[in-house]
Amino acid sequence: MTKDLEKQLEKKGVYFTHLVKELITTLVKAKRPLSIEEILAKFNRKKFNPHHSSLYRQLFRLSALDMVEESLFSDGIKRYCFIYERNHHHHFECNKCGYLENVPMKKCEDITIKVSKKLKKVGHTITSHSFTLKGLCSKCTCI
Ligand SMILES: [Zn+2]
Ligand SMILES: [Zn+2]
Ligand SMILES: [Zn+2]
Repeated sequence: MTKDLEKQLEKKGVYFTHLVKELITTLVKAKRPLSIEEILAKFNRKKFNPHHSSLYRQLFRLSALDMVEESLFSDGIKRYCFIYERNHHHHFECNKCGYLENVPMKKCEDITIKVSKKLKKVGHTITSHSFTLKGLCSKCTCI
């Protein structure tokens, strides 16, 4: 974890507590969206057992600061990703088993600016975007 990120967070009023540090590290390392249950399971494996509500509060806070993205998937479960700075990405979702993977994508700005301008003409305001690429994962393709 970079000192830079720590500074950025503190500027926004988020203290770099053990929970915040573990949360961000876990989300970055996973390379896929994680649900609250999945985050807690990963914490438990490290013998770290924060309160459910504290985790929820930090996720909510980091989402409000555009550092964490919350997405709803086909199984009806909300999952979270770290999206700050170089972590912009889209998702791949397997139609069959629900496998999820983050797809890093840095060149989508041009397209989204173009589309956002069109939408602005009819009065909509675009603040973010998310794409899901769907198909079959490598395991399901082989069956
Ligand atoms: Zn994501
Ligand atoms: Zn699959
Ligand atoms: Zn994008």
